[in-house]
Amino acid sequence: MIVRVLGSAAGGGVPQWNCACPNCSAARAGDAPRRSQSSFAVSADGLRWWLVNASPDIAQQIEATPPLQPHAARGTPIAGMLFTDANVDHLGGLAVLRQQGDHAFVIYSSATVRALALQQRSFSSFGEPPHHWHSVSPGDHFSLDGALEVRVVPVDGTTPGYAGREALPDAVVAYAISDTQSGTSALFAPVYANVTPALLGAAADSNVAFFDGSFWSDDELRTVGVNKPARSLGHAPIGGPTGSLEALAVTPRRGRRFFAHLNNTNPLLDPASPEFAEATDRGFEIAEDGLELHI
Ligand SMILES: [Zn+2]
Ligand SMILES: [Zn+2]
Repeated sequence: MIVRVLGSAAGGGVPQWNCACPNCSAARAGDAPRRSQSSFAVSADGLRWWLVNASPDIAQQIEATPPLQPHAARGTPIAGMLFTDANVDHLGGLAVLRQQGDHAFVIYSSATVRALALQQRSFSSFGEPPHHWHSVSPGDHFSLDGALEVRVVPVDGTTPGYAGREALPDAVVAYAISDTQSGTSALFAPVYANVTPALLGAAADSNVAFFDGSFWSDDELRTVGVNKPARSLGHAPIGGPTGSLEALAVTPRRGRRFFAHLNNTNPLLDPASPEFAEATDRGFEIAEDGLELHI
């Protein structure tokens, strides 16, 4: 199977339009790679593709990814999408891909994520035909065209901004996608509030895993004057004794492990930082836009 990182940044991207933090400034100056908002593409054959989350940057991501470009006057190799949660930077691509005509996307998400998506007025057309939107639950298995098998991995998570529903057990999920021919698999877990045994188990079983790389420290947004702890935004910080790096590092290392969905404040974006050295010394890599893996 082929796994492609379409966007490696958290909401806002790098650089973010209203930010001149060191990471955004470096990307703006051309001293560090630009990063679009988090999304992955998966395919068994390189012809038919599935997105894991669809960011508002999806149009530019398609232009940067020849296999996702149309082959006919109108059409798309994108069969559909799987959503991990209802954050706007993961759903917003659906509002961009509006000219689909009779082309129906096949969509998978939890029931809560579907309800939250339909609740957003600007996205209300999401639920209208022709999309085929399937609600799945943590623990479920389902097939994509018979070529890929998906397992819905429960994660501990919240989606801020939806009073009353944000903390439901299926507000956030991860997906383990395997190739039915080769048996190899990839784990996509760009959002979680805590590392749980279920997440560790899925990581141990995967040939490549993408983890929530949003924030190194809980109070990181203070550096840009924003008083929102990482945990209040539903993201487990990576660093420190209670961070996700410590918890994830215990997993047996079977394949490559990446941090993805990086916020522009994250010191991991600077290869000269001690945080980058710590993560890479422990066997983790930092995802970049355009990274393609054949597993
Ligand atoms: Zn996000
Ligand atoms: Zn910034």
